[in-house]
Amino acid sequence: MGVRSWEELKEEPPRAAGLAVLGDPVKHSLSPAMHNAALAAMRAAGQSLEGWKYEAVHVPAEELPEALPLLHGLGFRGLNLTIPHKVRVLPLLEELDASARGMGAANTLIRTGSGYRGSNTDGYGILKAMEEAFGVRPRDRDVWLFGAGGAARGIAVACLGDGADRLTIVNRGAERLEELKRQLQPVEGAGRLRFFRSEEAPDDSGEGALYINATSLGLRADDPLPFDDRRLRPGLFVYDTTYGCRNRLRKVSGERGIPYADGLPMLVWQGVRSLEIWTGAKVPAEVMRAAAEGGRGV
Ligand code: NAP
Repeated sequence: MGVRSWEELKEEPPRAAGLAVLGDPVKHSLSPAMHNAALAAMRAAGQSLEGWKYEAVHVPAEELPEALPLLHGLGFRGLNLTIPHKVRVLPLLEELDASARGMGAANTLIRTGSGYRGSNTDGYGILKAMEEAFGVRPRDRDVWLFGAGGAARGIAVACLGDGADRLTIVNRGAERLEELKRQLQPVEGAGRLRFFRSEEAPDDSGEGALYINATSLGLRADDPLPFDDRRLRPGLFVYDTTYGCRNRLRKVSGERGIPYADGLPMLVWQGVRSLEIWTGAKVPAEVMRAAAEGGRGV
């Protein structure tokens, strides 16, 4: 199924139970493949999900205020949001649940009578992915987060909420780092945070520390490591939010016997949770995972 522009949808009849991901760009999203595979499996298992279909819809940032009411009028009952909408959408929503309020962003919208309620399943996704990959969570652990963009913010809130012992955030540039520091100040557990520019970060991680790469380094095979090579010592766990590439972080972690997992399971688990919210039913996570893996060509 290709990507539609939201303007094209104006010409179409209403959906029985439309679902969609909105973004710019949205062409490479694995969400339609994951969700449609799960819906097909749920129908085959006897659930009455007639007319449920998930699409990718191209919506530029400034057109979201016009696109949302149109999609509501067309009967879309659930929406996922990706770049650049997760934060910008907040003033357009009727309500926010606790997860969206905590993250300061919404990736999942649920239809109400006259608009949408915002939720956030990204935090659930990363916690579930780390637990699945390593059998550990941030709770009572020394956690290091590299990067200070939109993904890092959600991960930081999730790690603090889970009870990380200490959370050290390291970023190349000062601007995003300062902005993230400001955003995280009111979050419960903010007293357990430390912030450093990359060249000033100490190398004092504890045994069993969790290292999370939330920079864009690692999206290409020849990207450098997101931190100094000497930090990668056995005893760590490395969770890389990038996926789709056999990058250096994966390679060096493997060579040194350090448990490593990439970001695909995080994407899968946030999708599982969104579909559970929309359908109110149990969702086959393995079907979504297989569809996501097929979509990225592994
Ligand atoms: P973003 O807001 O644009 O932030 C990018 C971050 O990467 C910034 O902290 C930036 O540091 C850092 N960075 C970029 N180039 C760098 C370089 N050459 N050296 C060092 N640091 C560099 O992006 P985002 O939305 O947070 O996404 C970050 C990553 O998370 C991406 O790789 C994305 O694929 C991944 N992600 C994964 C999932 C998933 O489900 N698995 C979901 C969302 C995002 P500066 O401030 O110094 O520029």
